[in-house]
Amino acid sequence: MSDDNTLAFDTLQVHAGAEPDPATGARQVPIYQTTAYVFRDADHAAALFNLQEVGNIYSRLTNPTVSALAARITALEGGAGGVCTSSGHAAQIMALYPLMGPGLNIVASTRLYGGTYTQFTQVFKRFGWETKFVDFDDTAAVEAAIDDNTRAIFCETIANPGGYITDLDAISAIADKAGVPLVVDNTSATPYLCRPIEHGATLVVHSVTKYLTGNGTVTGGAIVDSGKFDWSASGKFPSLSEPEPAYHGLKFHEALGPMAYTFYSIAVGLRDLGMTMNPQGAHYSLMGIETLSLRMQKHVENAGKIAAWLEADPRVEAVTYPGLASSPYHDRVARIVPKGAGALFTVALKSGYEGCVKFVGALDLFSHVANLGDTRSLVIHPASTTHRQLSAEQRAAAGAADNVVRLSIGTEDADDLIADLDQALAKASA
Ligand SMILES: *Cc1c(COP(=O)(O)O)cnc(C)c1O
Repeated sequence: MSDDNTLAFDTLQVHAGAEPDPATGARQVPIYQTTAYVFRDADHAAALFNLQEVGNIYSRLTNPTVSALAARITALEGGAGGVCTSSGHAAQIMALYPLMGPGLNIVASTRLYGGTYTQFTQVFKRFGWETKFVDFDDTAAVEAAIDDNTRAIFCETIANPGGYITDLDAISAIADKAGVPLVVDNTSATPYLCRPIEHGATLVVHSVTKYLTGNGTVTGGAIVDSGKFDWSASGKFPSLSEPEPAYHGLKFHEALGPMAYTFYSIAVGLRDLGMTMNPQGAHYSLMGIETLSLRMQKHVENAGKIAAWLEADPRVEAVTYPGLASSPYHDRVARIVPKGAGALFTVALKSGYEGCVKFVGALDLFSHVANLGDTRSLVIHPASTTHRQLSAEQRAAAGAADNVVRLSIGTEDADDLIADLDQALAKASA
């Protein structure tokens, strides 16, 4: 029953991936705090290592608590298979690892989480992986950036710091035509607001740290594979289509079909890179994910009310929430995120840099932290924190001009949050 993915979202977020524990009857998924698993006999061990039988060997590869979370996220995203990772950033590296190699490139949206931009430029360079950044609203430029060495297209559904929705349908059509997988970071939308696979994505990555867990207790990530990409068609993905030297010459795609990418991510990715989620963290995430749809409804409802209130306030210069009719991306909401435009957006204050510093300091219910997607409302002033090292021009280009604050709207009472914003705006403008 827990594997019946025809069930509705609200049912899957509670049940998918989790049967009562076969050994004890425990109804909640136990925290399997163990490193290794006893083999029944030598034949059983051999079958597990040959991937002829599915089972646990060592917790760097799989662990029942972590596997339950991976199965649940996979069900919510409508994927064929998935794995969890130690962080969202680990998920990005591991998602691309089977596809990439020195001299190869990805085409990525310019609108990305700041840490992702740094990973794609600084870290990937040392692997010999190149990233070509393109404005994803310019579809001709996306097409033109793809060359024979391109192995993935990467974007976020709702891009950080908020206010931007990627036209996944347009981008996946380009990816399809080029025979290149589309990788979508769905952290800010969550599968409740958008299921990128339904818009043509090949792989979905997550920072489980954010809305999926929801309560700010866990650092974790996930990768979900649609199971739909033909890894053997072009000869460009030899890790999946040719004998894999890191796994005794197994041809993953031939042997495992739609589960090839997922098994590769476990048998080679997690085994050899070791970016593994721990069972305690997976347990907290399983607790959080049970209420994902309920929380997202409240996040979106609050964000809509607060964005409209801010936009009407004379102390505010601009609000970038796509749920507002004034947003240039408003027309994408109904198609890409029909249940709501998320709960992350930026606000430009008329009181400038100094006003933003005072505003952040004066807020009471909003916590000043470098995080998003918590049940608590959060605020950050990028110019004095995360984007401090950039020039004023670079900050403006990144949507983090000196007078801009980013809000991550929580699930508190909207009127309480508005009262808090109101008193802080008064102090900022004084
Ligand atoms: C936080 C975040 C990441 C990185 O995730 P970590 O769990 O912090 O490693 C990647 N992408 C987006 C959109 C994020 O919000």
